[in-house]
Amino acid sequence: MKSSDVIIVGGGAIGCSIAWRLAQVGLSVSVIERDVPGAGASSSAGGMLLPQEESNGPGDMLNLMLQSRALYPAFSEELHSESGIDIEFKSKGALKLLLDEEDERLADKCLEWHRREGLPLERLASAEVLEIEPNLSPELGGGLFFPNEGQVGNRKLVVALVAAAQVAGVEFHNGEEMLGIRADEKGVEIETGADTYSGATAVLCGGAWSKEIGDRLGFGLPVFPYKGQMVQLQVPASMFERPILHGGAYIISKPVGRVICGGTMEKVGFDKRVTGEAIHSILENTLRIAPSLSNAEVADTWACFRPATPDGLPILGRIPGSPNIIAATGHFRNGILLTPVTAELIAGLVLKGEEEGLAPFAPGRFVDG
Ligand SMILES: Cc1cc2nc3c(=O)[nH]c(=O)nc-3n(C[C@H](O)[C@H](O)[C@H](O)COP(=O)(O)OP(=O)(O)OC[C@H]3O[C@@H](n4cnc5c(N)ncnc54)[C@H](O)[C@@H]3O)c2cc1C
Repeated sequence: MKSSDVIIVGGGAIGCSIAWRLAQVGLSVSVIERDVPGAGASSSAGGMLLPQEESNGPGDMLNLMLQSRALYPAFSEELHSESGIDIEFKSKGALKLLLDEEDERLADKCLEWHRREGLPLERLASAEVLEIEPNLSPELGGGLFFPNEGQVGNRKLVVALVAAAQVAGVEFHNGEEMLGIRADEKGVEIETGADTYSGATAVLCGGAWSKEIGDRLGFGLPVFPYKGQMVQLQVPASMFERPILHGGAYIISKPVGRVICGGTMEKVGFDKRVTGEAIHSILENTLRIAPSLSNAEVADTWACFRPATPDGLPILGRIPGSPNIIAATGHFRNGILLTPVTAELIAGLVLKGEEEGLAPFAPGRFVDG
């Protein structure tokens, strides 16, 4: 039997960031990860930080995402100084290309609500698009420029979070799967097959696999997988300054000539195969907007699962009937963006019982009646 103040189940960006924040203030924390940290969606993501582009209008989700984006500069500096790892945070905006009449119509609506909310957004003519991103096709029309959006190296983020958490004293138990969980007013016990972990509080951060974890507790966490497939191209040098969004897809330049092209949205369960159809469509769309990539080497392909929820909002807060068990999951398309704010809110809940800001995301919203 191993005991700690807090047990975190799942070592993705969400679990590792919460572990880090709690250990920083002196709590003993164990992370139980059935594979290795980052093995789920967190290392497979694009790393875009797009609260504005991802929203259809004002609301709780936009507010949460804006709050998290605002935390990123200080969060990345702190992580750098505590882990020694640069997480490649960049805040040079994002560009959304307007490829057809439907895009133009949606752009008008988007500009309108941004104006109402006082959020910066600019419409660019074709020549202005090429001025800021000269490696795009000259045949394209205009675009929308979101000057405050950004990107981060999501793989580096997980590596840095693990390193910073270890410096703060977090113990990682990799290769151990949570098989059972019991809770009463005194605390929580988690079985992994290899060991039993006891603690005052458990935080469930199982990403797309959270339903299975909730089922073991007897609480319905209605998280389901939304598959995304990606292609990585290799070019000699960096090609784009910022994420380029086009027709529901995107390209993102990463350091040393890596270009990530994505990403499909497939509701097909836990099917992790990379398929010919998906790769064909990603490359076709990519080369249409950036023919200069036609000779790039295809360096990698992969698929993973976004943790989706029925209402599109994350699930953050205490599990009804099991107050010492907290859920932090269901971040869908924006878990990398939402990492700093989730860590802050969940740490506040564990340490001080603070519930402020959590109400719209409470797990209890899925309980009948
Ligand atoms: C293709 C793709 C592109 C994306 N692009 C972006 C983007 O550009 N920007 C953005 O903000 N977000 C993006 N996302 C979403 C983002 O990746 C996720 O929302 C985020 O990574 C979720 O983090 P997590 O820690 O909750 O889950 P995960 O990273 O999936 O971690 C969950 C962990 O729990 C472990 N686990 C599960 N069950 C158990 C168990 N029973 N016992 C022990 N361990 C367990 C898993 O092994 C896994 O490591 C993308 C996702 C995908 C798939």
